[in-house]
Amino acid sequence: MRLFSPCRYVASVPLLDPAELWAQGKRALLVDRDNTLVPRDASRAPEDVKAWLDSARGHGFALCMISNNWHRAEVAQSAAELGIDSFIAFACKPLPCALRSACKKLGVAPRDTVLIGDQLYTDVWSANLAGIDSILVRPQTSVDLWYTQVFRVFERRALRDLPCEE
Ligand SMILES: [Mg+2]
Repeated sequence: MRLFSPCRYVASVPLLDPAELWAQGKRALLVDRDNTLVPRDASRAPEDVKAWLDSARGHGFALCMISNNWHRAEVAQSAAELGIDSFIAFACKPLPCALRSACKKLGVAPRDTVLIGDQLYTDVWSANLAGIDSILVRPQTSVDLWYTQVFRVFERRALRDLPCEE
C-alpha cells in the first residue's frame, strides 16, 4: 500500500548523498530523532551523523527535527547539539500536521522536502499523508519503547521484500 511505502530504504543516514538529494530538487530535510539520528540507547548522535548533517547544511538544506518524543527538553538539546535550528517535539506522527507546519516554517513546498525516519507506521505514513517523499532507515539500535516493539513486528513483515541499501 502506497501509504506505507518509503521512497527509499537505507541502512543509516550517513549512507545518503546530500548532493544527490539536492540534484533531485529537494531543499529541506525533516529528520526524526530517536533511532534515526540518535540511537535509543544513547543520548547523543554518533560523529558520522553529525558530519552528515554538516554536509547537508553545507549543500544548503533547511533542516527540522520532528520527533514524537514528548520530552521536549531532550529533543531541543539534540537539535541544538546537531545545529538544527528548528524542531518539533511530541509531533504525533503519523498525523501529518507537524510535517506540514515544518514545511511552512522552513518556507519549502512538501514536494521539495524529504522526511528521514526509522518507523514505517509513524515516519513514512505521516510523510505520505503530507505529500512528502520519505526515506526509511533501519532503527539504529534494537532498543525501542514497548509499543514501538509491537509495531516493529508488523513493520518487519511489511519490509520483508524491500531491499535495504547498505
Ligand atoms: Mg524514530
